[in-house]
Amino acid sequence: MTRTTRPPALDLAARFPAIAAYARTTVRLHPRRGNPTAQDSHLGGPLLWPAGEPWPSCGRPKAFHPNPQQPEATVGVGQFYARDLPELPFPPGTDLLQVLWCPHTHEDLQGSIGPYVQLFWRDSDSITPTTEPPPEPGMLDGDDSRLPLPCVLNPERVREYPWYEELPAELVQALDGLEAEFGVAAGNDQYSYQYSLSIASGSKVGGWVAWSVTDQIPQPCPECASPMDHLLTIDDYEWDGGSLPRWRPIEEDLVDHLADRPTGMDLHDAVRIFVCPVSLDHPVRVDCQ
Ligand SMILES: [Zn+2]
Ligand SMILES: [Zn+2]
Repeated sequence: MTRTTRPPALDLAARFPAIAAYARTTVRLHPRRGNPTAQDSHLGGPLLWPAGEPWPSCGRPKAFHPNPQQPEATVGVGQFYARDLPELPFPPGTDLLQVLWCPHTHEDLQGSIGPYVQLFWRDSDSITPTTEPPPEPGMLDGDDSRLPLPCVLNPERVREYPWYEELPAELVQALDGLEAEFGVAAGNDQYSYQYSLSIASGSKVGGWVAWSVTDQIPQPCPECASPMDHLLTIDDYEWDGGSLPRWRPIEEDLVDHLADRPTGMDLHDAVRIFVCPVSLDHPVRVDCQ
């Protein structure tokens, strides 16, 4: 089903031509509850997992766990086929990205605290899928806050502009002037650069990353120090009160209040996954906020 983001209240590039160079396309995933199969792109559905390949476990130290080093089964977060999301940096010969995470809290993620993420880039044609269900995640004590419910995706491409710290000072000043002119402080949220004109809320592929909790944190590759690329954001809420006027799809103006937390997860923060542009064999970085 189509989900359509409302156009911005004004065209920033028409008003400030210098910002055009910072435009990026993100793919809003628009996850919604459904029954995806292993042949579909999805969040929270069954993965096309190769028969005979052991399901990954995580032996990294886990916070709030009685036996922190004990390996625990990871969880399938989602998978993405190149036919739906060609924007993902699929290595030659692959057409399927699978994302798994260990749903426990880890404090050894290079500065971030959250689930431990593993990525698998595969050639779907060469997979003989297993018929075994994945193992149950152990020792969660009923905490299902990082276990996604099955959702189908409704990808939509939208234009984004960066977090203000990634813009030159002249543009930031110009945007401040714009907000004053249109009365953002008085509640005209549709002209708020942060909430309505720059970065899409919700789960998405590519595009810019908001740093509303910490201010911008550089994401150098742990192996080669290259600045890493934002691959994917997994969010629990698709919008909140501040971002709703722009980012709640037009089709859902009056319906589907469930859609603001479609996967049922309660992440407190969005999980943002970064990869190295030099090599996808270099470690993944995760930032949660
Ligand atoms: Zn773990
Ligand atoms: Zn690297």
